[in-house]
Amino acid sequence: MARIVMKFGGTSVADLDRIRNVAARVKREVDAGNEVAVVVSAMSGVTNQLVAWCQSLSPLHDAREYDTVVATGEQVTSGLTAIALQEMGVEARSWQGWQIPLRTDGAHGKARIDTVAADDIVARMARGQVAVVAGFQGIAPDNRVATLGRGGSDTSAVALAAALKAERCDIYTDVDGIYTTDPRIVAKARKLGKIAYEEMLELASVGAKVLQTRSVELAMKERVRVQVLSSFDGGNRLGSDLPGTLVVDEDEIVEKEIVAGIAYSRDEAKVTVRRVPDRPGIAAAIFGPLAGAGVNVDMIVQNVSADGTTDMTFTLGRSDLPRAHKTLDDNRAIIGYTELVTDTNVAKISVVGVGMRSHAGVANTMFRTLADKAINIQVISTSEIKVSVLIGADYTELAVRALHTAYGLDAA
Ligand code: ADP
Ligand code: ASP
Ligand code: MG
Repeated sequence: MARIVMKFGGTSVADLDRIRNVAARVKREVDAGNEVAVVVSAMSGVTNQLVAWCQSLSPLHDAREYDTVVATGEQVTSGLTAIALQEMGVEARSWQGWQIPLRTDGAHGKARIDTVAADDIVARMARGQVAVVAGFQGIAPDNRVATLGRGGSDTSAVALAAALKAERCDIYTDVDGIYTTDPRIVAKARKLGKIAYEEMLELASVGAKVLQTRSVELAMKERVRVQVLSSFDGGNRLGSDLPGTLVVDEDEIVEKEIVAGIAYSRDEAKVTVRRVPDRPGIAAAIFGPLAGAGVNVDMIVQNVSADGTTDMTFTLGRSDLPRAHKTLDDNRAIIGYTELVTDTNVAKISVVGVGMRSHAGVANTMFRTLADKAINIQVISTSEIKVSVLIGADYTELAVRALHTAYGLDAA
């Protein structure tokens, strides 16, 4: 007997047939004698619609009301999944974030999980009841619903697995594991049997949507065994028993590649603040107010100074652009820039691998490969195990495919 958390993403609960199939997959685990907690996402497409409604009414909408709206998708699927399980004779009960309670901080729209109360769920699991938890949501200190950022159900699942001291956290999705890059844009992507926490963390943080970044961070910290696997066996049916990808400690991986994977993100925006005075304190004058407005800035370059002024270019998440624009407008007099230029037609491409710590030349291969394809690099940033470049969005797929080949990652 094991205690397991099973998380099902949007495509796995996209309609009633698929929800029945999820229930059947859960029933199999229950019948095998396991204690099961299920975490569900909203039906695929639903969260996008809810977000779009908020944005249409007001681009700078109130984050608390945004949470009230976007958390509803998971309420629906948690109740439906519980009903489907009951219909199959499995005792089940749905749980919203506030009922558990799963407590978060006050950063509405991208809240972090503080605590998950597990006692009640554990007691019910011991009696054979399946907990069906609405992913993506919790309750903030202001007693209002909070959501965990896009893709946050993965983090709900890992946090629940940690709180329940579950043996496994199985993330069922629409691909059968973690690949060297998104298998939807590179047909030659290769499935990995294992990937190191650190590599997955870095890949997720630069755009590989298969796991939310915080879920990997939490799994690494709490030593949760995460497995990514498919909820489909080709058709619409659940129950693939093919092995997925395990996220593990680096030393569990025998054959280390220099580059483990390549990720891309089209959710970027580039901002250039033109002709700011080149003097001490200018970076603080720009990035301080942005941080205060909750905008995460990613890549930064400061151009060479001419006539005592300089251009500052940086990237941020596209959804933060309206807020960033307003903040910079409000602080224009203090910063003293002449012009603000924004560009959303950009993509960030990143190569990641722990082998980079000990091998030189990874960045050079990237630059040479992109140059051979006549792709212009606009901004570069690096970390110990990652190199990222910003390029024109139209070149995303070409760049990822060329790099995948250049690093020898193509499947045979
Ligand atoms: P879910 O709704 O189940 O949470 P997501 O759409 O959030 O599913 O994540 C799964 C998707 O992640 C896949 O369909 C795939 O297109 C994408 N993806 C991006 N990078 C990778 C990768 N390296 N390996 C596998 N899938 C990836
Ligand atoms: N439904 C939410 C989203 O689409 C959370 C998730 O799917 O993980 O972002
Ligand atoms: Mg997801």
